[in-house]
Amino acid sequence: MLDLQLPSPVAELRDELLAARGVRVLLKRDDLIHPEIPGNKWRKLKHNVAPAVEAGRLLTFGGAYSNHLRATAAVGHHYGFDTIGVVRGEEHLPLNPSLAYAVSRGMRLTYLDRTSYRLKTSAVVLDTLRGEFGDFYLLPEGGSNPAALRGCAELPAEITEPFDAVFCAVGTGGTLAGLAAGARQPVIGVPVLKAALEDDIIALQQATYGDRVGDWHLEPDYHFGGYAKRTPSLDSFIEDFDSRHDLLLDWVYEAKMMYALFDQVHRGHFAPGTTVVALIN
Ligand SMILES: *Cc1c(COP(=O)(O)O)cnc(C)c1O
Repeated sequence: MLDLQLPSPVAELRDELLAARGVRVLLKRDDLIHPEIPGNKWRKLKHNVAPAVEAGRLLTFGGAYSNHLRATAAVGHHYGFDTIGVVRGEEHLPLNPSLAYAVSRGMRLTYLDRTSYRLKTSAVVLDTLRGEFGDFYLLPEGGSNPAALRGCAELPAEITEPFDAVFCAVGTGGTLAGLAAGARQPVIGVPVLKAALEDDIIALQQATYGDRVGDWHLEPDYHFGGYAKRTPSLDSFIEDFDSRHDLLLDWVYEAKMMYALFDQVHRGHFAPGTTVVALIN
């Protein structure tokens, strides 16, 4: 059952390090929307449900630990459309918990070696997949398409308290691209990988809104070595944060974002009296 807590709660993070700088941080708890699905994955899927139901079948792509694949499987199961997950790399059995969950929600999995995966949106690869699975509604990797941006653009209106800026983690950038379109405030994205993402984000906004929109920028120096890489300083930040706030930050995404936020507050990037929203997925 897809039992969603919406709008997701907003809670102030009471923290002496922030208080010392006079900065308020509000947590937008999209992680509480559903226990199995990061909230932004729901927001990105929401407006893709109708075309997927109409097609009867949705195909999408992801890595072996993809939150997007598991969320897509859960949503397909609930709304009654078939889901096919194209996984990068080889099959490893037993399936890891992410893929096992996706399969338990009815997702069929297929695998592409890394070279084919890079060509996954080419006509050749898509025709092969159509031959194997029949026609499908195609959702890009990470679920980031114009419908996804429109779903994420709805988030800022859920926050009733005044705020001055938003921080979010950036994987594909779809969440940031939509948030920035829906917010009047600046949005600061913290990439969790080394790739230069700015052009992709601009392209997503152009495809959705015709142009670059909103006031946003990336803070590219907090990837800690790259996607799903971690360091002792990130680990101790996570531990310390958990012990002080009883909230275990997801280390692939939200911990890097929160580290960046604390670092920027510490460096005096925000004037006393500033309220920053931190998006937790
Ligand atoms: C997917 C994901 C992100 C990144 O979202 P993008 O729209 O790809 O940038 C951030 N946090 C969590 C927990 C996620 O699962």
